[in-house]
Amino acid sequence: MSVFPIDDTETLSTVLPETLNGIRGVDLHLHSTASDGKLSPTELADLCHARGLTHVALTDHDTIAGVEEARQQCARHGVSLISAAELSCQWRGIGIHIVGLLPQGVSRAFESGLEILSSAREKRSREIAHRLEKIGLQDGLAKARLEAGSERPLGRPDFAAALVTAGLVPDRKAAFKRYLGTGKRGDVKMHWPELATVVGWIRDAGGIAVVAHPLRYGMTRRKRDLLFSAFIDAGGEAAELVSGYQNPDSTHDLARQLDFHGLYGSIGSDFHYPGGPLSPGTISPPPRAHVKPVWCHPAMHGFANGE
Ligand code: AMP
Ligand code: MN
Ligand code: MN
Ligand code: MN
Repeated sequence: MSVFPIDDTETLSTVLPETLNGIRGVDLHLHSTASDGKLSPTELADLCHARGLTHVALTDHDTIAGVEEARQQCARHGVSLISAAELSCQWRGIGIHIVGLLPQGVSRAFESGLEILSSAREKRSREIAHRLEKIGLQDGLAKARLEAGSERPLGRPDFAAALVTAGLVPDRKAAFKRYLGTGKRGDVKMHWPELATVVGWIRDAGGIAVVAHPLRYGMTRRKRDLLFSAFIDAGGEAAELVSGYQNPDSTHDLARQLDFHGLYGSIGSDFHYPGGPLSPGTISPPPRAHVKPVWCHPAMHGFANGE
């Protein structure tokens, strides 16, 4: 009889590498019907497995409502799933998204943070509807609710869909470009908590705060430096080095910036629905860089090792 532990090849096969370069099988930014994604948590878990992913995070906007269902289906497939959410906040009047990776699950402070975000989202929806009335969308709140097709919290994509249905814009892209995108009248940020507040909730739960898609805020490099400094002062520890498709030069430069600030790097597709350009696991290749993967963070040990 062997004195060694039973066959551990299964565990070994799920151990993650210590560099970001050449990584496959990881996607730490995915959406489901618990927020503005089109697949249920179960369908998403199935698709992640079918695409060969081994380590994933469900990061719905301001909610963990889909996590348990996704975890159960991931477990059936032998895919590791970490509890997570993508939290809305503001910094210097700019809407910022912070992914909270929660290896220990949630805390009471984190849960009450989610409640604050949920009521902020409701108030914001009313304000967006009010502002869109001025461009000719009547009963915007009811129309957005109809587009959402369920009781889940409303988001800007639902208002974009309502604008398209009402014939006020040709497509959703135009809806964001004209009315809902950064700095437009439907981009309402005033209800969101401050950056430091949401980072505090994540820390309270023993989680790791990650700046989501840092290249998508239309910031200069200098401004991003200031964002990272404020984020680190608040207790933030990581940022997404690659989010979906990125220009390789921008990614290289971002890697230098993360390295400079000593931030861990995360990766994710920000997948929302099938049929678009992205699928779970679709990201531009992470560059050769010194940036440490977020799964090398001591708090992520269990996740990285498939425990
Ligand atoms: P919200 O969380 O309600 O502020 O909505 C933000 C979501 O809107 C993002 O997570 C994307 O899913 C979507 N979104 C943001 N900008 C655009 C855009 N320019 N085109 C299409 N969808 C967008
Ligand atoms: Mn979204
Ligand atoms: Mn986002
Ligand atoms: Mn997202």
